[in-house]
Amino acid sequence: MLSIPDIARWFRPVKTALPLLPKFKQHGLNLMPGMFDKNNRNDVEGQAVPIPDEAYFFDNGDCLFLAEGVLFKLHRWILCRDPDSMFRDMFSVPQGPQVMGLDPISISDTRAEFRALCWVLYALPNEIHLQTTREADVQRLVHVAKMSHKYNLPLFETWALKMILLQCEPPLDHLATCTQDVLGQMMALATLCDHPVLLCLVESAWISRLSTGELRCSDALVAGEKHATRKFQGDVYYQLNKQIHSQLSALSPTSARGFSDFGLTDKQLLCLLSGHILLSNFWCRLREDGLPYSTRCNVLKYMHDTACVPTYANIQWPLNTADVLMGLRSARQAVAAQPAPTPFGIPTCIVGHLDILIHKFTSEVANYFLEPSTTT
Ligand SMILES: [Zn+2]
Repeated sequence: MLSIPDIARWFRPVKTALPLLPKFKQHGLNLMPGMFDKNNRNDVEGQAVPIPDEAYFFDNGDCLFLAEGVLFKLHRWILCRDPDSMFRDMFSVPQGPQVMGLDPISISDTRAEFRALCWVLYALPNEIHLQTTREADVQRLVHVAKMSHKYNLPLFETWALKMILLQCEPPLDHLATCTQDVLGQMMALATLCDHPVLLCLVESAWISRLSTGELRCSDALVAGEKHATRKFQGDVYYQLNKQIHSQLSALSPTSARGFSDFGLTDKQLLCLLSGHILLSNFWCRLREDGLPYSTRCNVLKYMHDTACVPTYANIQWPLNTADVLMGLRSARQAVAAQPAPTPFGIPTCIVGHLDILIHKFTSEVANYFLEPSTTT
């Protein structure tokens, strides 16, 4: 349950935030002529004059909000439709008419965000239906989900997230073509709403677009650090590591640019180069450590030593050590494709060992580039 201090933090009576005309204060919406002309942005008495929103300023509204200089005159019952709506708490707070009447209540949201909230509250059936099609306004849906979360409108938040997922999944695949800014907003939303499915979709799409060079890794790292998405940061560094490998021939002590093309901070570059060394070490140790005997082996120990171990040692490991995951998968395919070295077929210990390495590496790639996680 939200407390009154919570509400007070989000809503501020406008008289403390934006000085209004005396006439406005004394007579509610009886403002000066021309004040609501959207083109009239001249200052009055040195103060910015608020203008009404084009769509969400209802004459018979009974509450008034101000976002970035735009007034929204709405109906309280609409804002309170969701049983858990924070607006119910807000309107139940005993306040004088100067605060909770038609004096605008200043909010910290952008006008686009608050307009999106108004849209979902007043939307007609055909507008709602469009959100299931390619005609959906995904940017607005993101605003709706964020605002619904902020103002505790769980029914609207759930619906908006469902529509966003629909847009992000096949066949619509909005994340494959949206702007980087929208990707960042989606990541922020998934983190805010604690939505692992959406976060996974965003991260996967972002990494995919990094791998083609369409988007810059440095920007993705900034987003990953901002939202503390450790696995995503690890995957971005992994992409950078592959780029290092492709640019090795261009790097030299006399190179004018060096690593500057990556656009990383000193700390990020250190993480990248440290991880590069650790990955190279990991790749070298694969053969040196050999193949352990385990219960996964389908032959006896002596046959394991004479058949499984040499087979593992003679795997044609890919030379590109920058893409460890690809290398492990290639090795697994190579083992499965070659003639069986034992009467019992392909040694299950080799395939099992490689599967474990692939799984372990996929889940722990961030550990190669970042400080150990503090969470358990
Ligand atoms: Zn074996």
